[in-house]
Amino acid sequence: MTVDRILPTEEAYELLDLTRDLAARELAGRADAFEARGEFPREILRTLGRSGLLGLPYPEADGGAGQPYEVYLQVLETLAGSWLAVAEAVSVHTLACYPVFAHGTERQRKMLPDLLGGELLGAYCLSEPQGGSDAAALTTRATRDATGWVVNGVKAWITHAGHADFYNIFARTGPDGARGISCLFAEAGTPGLHPQKPERTMGLRSSAPAQVVLEDLHLDADHLVGDENGGFRIAMEALDAGRLGIAACAVGLAQAAVDHAAAYAKERTQFGRPIAAFQGLGFMLADMSTQVSAARALMLSAARLKDAGRPYSIEAAKAKLFATDAAMRVTTDAVQVLGGYGYVSDHPVERWFREAKVLQIVEGTNQIQRVVISRSLTS
Ligand SMILES: Cc1cc2nc3c(=O)[nH]c(=O)nc-3n(C[C@H](O)[C@H](O)[C@H](O)COP(=O)(O)OP(=O)(O)OC[C@H]3O[C@@H](n4cnc5c(N)ncnc54)[C@H](O)[C@@H]3O)c2cc1C
Repeated sequence: MTVDRILPTEEAYELLDLTRDLAARELAGRADAFEARGEFPREILRTLGRSGLLGLPYPEADGGAGQPYEVYLQVLETLAGSWLAVAEAVSVHTLACYPVFAHGTERQRKMLPDLLGGELLGAYCLSEPQGGSDAAALTTRATRDATGWVVNGVKAWITHAGHADFYNIFARTGPDGARGISCLFAEAGTPGLHPQKPERTMGLRSSAPAQVVLEDLHLDADHLVGDENGGFRIAMEALDAGRLGIAACAVGLAQAAVDHAAAYAKERTQFGRPIAAFQGLGFMLADMSTQVSAARALMLSAARLKDAGRPYSIEAAKAKLFATDAAMRVTTDAVQVLGGYGYVSDHPVERWFREAKVLQIVEGTNQIQRVVISRSLTS
């Protein structure tokens, strides 16, 4: 089903057309094979990058495409319907460009055209083996030496580990808690930065995260992004926007599941009728479709607040929470609509069901989103 979208400019309609075309040509037919092989689609991401999709919401003056967030998210949604790992990669790269964009020194910001230009890929290293939700308790330590910083510790679950060209590393440079964390920028291949083997994940196998071991990683002083001990705020600001990216991935995945399930229900017959004709099943499809529309509306309303320069972080938390829970319910129901055929890999709903799960976990679990939302109501 084509989603009827109201976009702010003619250019945005053209961009969505281009994305649909790219997704059909470059992604849809390849996802299953790459997922089965656990192969990271680096070249495909370069192709997307050369089409301008890796720097969409950043200003043209910095090398981005100057698109409003609401347009960028609908591009992500379109990619996610074809291949979640690729959409998530675009979202994580966009997140990884944020610290230098928003807090970089003049010299660091000179790198922006390269970071946003499409050839490079970024990683965002906040989580650690002993904790992801309580990120302010991180233990990776950066200590000063004569020329800069020496970083030691282990980062966990890092998307693009081993494939990224640059890493944002959040490390302790001061006292315990959120006020003792700094953000450091490291190029891939810097001695002491060691990506490990990919995790054996339930889904997203073509872009499985990995640990990054930091062993006497030396970074010159000018690799500090933002203020010393001001890194936690940068990490949280980046995640506010990143959560909308994850919501968009969830909406795209769930829309694909509704479309596939509805098409199947029209074809499959039981008791001499298409199964879509049974009200029990039709109502299930109606609920699935309604959840996707509601998730998209919530995501876009948060994005429009961001585009208008208004506070949006609580609305982003709600959008991430609602859209990813909806994607889990919708993909679960899509499996049900297909019956036994939903449980085998001949149809993509089996993969989408496994992939939806991770969206409830990344960039703040949905329990953490509820913590954020409930605090805003009660504090
Ligand atoms: C595929 C994948 C990709 C990822 N990519 C990245 C990445 O690129 N960069 C990065 O930094 N991290 C990344 N992560 C890590 C992710 O952000 C963390 O897994 C997530 O934040 C949860 O942390 P945890 O796994 O340590 O779980 P924990 O924090 O140990 O949580 C375990 C459970 O306890 C619950 N819980 C914790 N605290 C509370 C609370 N206060 N109230 C209620 N419930 C609570 C959680 O919701 C969860 O259900 C990725 C993870 C995955 C699986």
